[in-house]
Order: sequence, then structure tokens, then C-alpha cells
Amino acid sequence: MTEPLPDGYVVHLPPAYRQVRLPHQFGDPVSVAANVTLSRHPQTERTCTVCGAVKVTVHGSNGIAWREWRKCASDEQTAVEVVCGAKVPG
Ligand SMILES: [Zn+2]
Repeated sequence: MTEPLPDGYVVHLPPAYRQVRLPHQFGDPVSVAANVTLSRHPQTERTCTVCGAVKVTVHGSNGIAWREWRKCASDEQTAVEVVCGAKVPG
């Protein structure tokens, strides 16, 4: 059994990490073929070397292209820009 904390005891621990917003730093564009499993058109992907977010140019079947975003460890692509950031100590 651990001892109960005394009355009025307050813990002042800083968070171990904080999120810092940064500009994306994209690597070289990579052409990706259509993916039937994920219902994706052919697309061009640029991965951020800071946060791993992927900026995607989707090449639609009728010559129209549009922007989508994907988080590094996710299969889901949306039109909502992924905010760049990194966790830093303190
Ligand atoms: Zn980023």
C-alpha cells in the first residue's frame, strides 16, 4: 500500500513534452499509382521530414487534380491540412 498524500499537497510537475507548431519541410515528390484497396486515384505525395504528414496531390480521372492531406500513420486522407508540429521536452 502506498501512503496517502497529506492534505493540501499539490503536485507541480511540468508536462513531459509540449507540442510546437513548425513549418512543414517537404521531401521530394513521389508518384504513387492508384490504390484500389484504398479507393485512391493516382497521386503525388510529399512527406514532411519534421512531422511525417503527407501533402497529397490527387490526380482525378477527368484531369482534375486536388489537394489532400494524410497523417503519417493513418490511411485516411482528408482536405483538412495537417498542422505541422513536433513534441519537444519541457
Ligand atoms: Zn510537418
